[in-house]
Amino acid sequence: MNSPSAAPAPAIEFAARQARALLVHARLCAEYGAPFPFFSTKDPLSELVSALLSHRTKNAESHRAYQELRATLPTWEAVRDAPTEAVQYAIRACTWPEQKAPRIQAVLREISQRCGTDAPCALDFLAEMPIPEARAWLESISGVGPKTSAATLLFSTLRIPAMPVDSHHHRVAQRLGLIGPKVGEGPAHKLLEALLPPGWDAQQVYDHHEAFMFHGQKCCYFSAPACARCVVLDQCPFGQGRMQASKVA
Ligand code: SF4
Repeated sequence: MNSPSAAPAPAIEFAARQARALLVHARLCAEYGAPFPFFSTKDPLSELVSALLSHRTKNAESHRAYQELRATLPTWEAVRDAPTEAVQYAIRACTWPEQKAPRIQAVLREISQRCGTDAPCALDFLAEMPIPEARAWLESISGVGPKTSAATLLFSTLRIPAMPVDSHHHRVAQRLGLIGPKVGEGPAHKLLEALLPPGWDAQQVYDHHEAFMFHGQKCCYFSAPACARCVVLDQCPFGQGRMQASKVA
């Protein structure tokens, strides 16, 4: 989302957006020190639950909620079958535990039914599918959107090159004109992924996502982006507009 004081970035044609995305990628990767080590070593089912916990929650809080859930109910079967209040209590460190607890249990039930197993299956079979099919399989579960499916595939031990777009990544991409001003986080996934070279491996896709996210956290803030010290100001219509406006004022 753009801050209210500057005009939204204008749309530019696909080839220009692609070139800009790659140039910005190179600059941000250099700025923040790519390649970035993968932060997670979770299996895909654990990563899926972790991603569900992380929605609109700070990393430290969702990590605490995940740890307590695992300590209280050590198997996903136990989480699925526990009283919902027990799951809700275990994950109370994250936002909206009253919504996330029943959602997580419903997701675990759905996966168990699809796999036809007593315990929810591990989801390792997703590695055998083409990426769009693996994403579609996950996103056909109620409560699983494109960010969660991509996080499950990329961050888990599967290391499949699917790209999540979080709020920082989305804001930076929008200000740079890589997506239109009205494109939401969900639809942004396909549009931004289309700008990446098709042969990129998981590390490259991960670096792209992390570099945009770090930029949103460390420079391109929501309400007062630090455009004057931004390494991609020359590529950013939104930032250039702000700089011009501050000279006029
Ligand atoms: S110039 Fe940089 S900090 Fe400013 S809006 Fe653009 S990307 Fe964000």
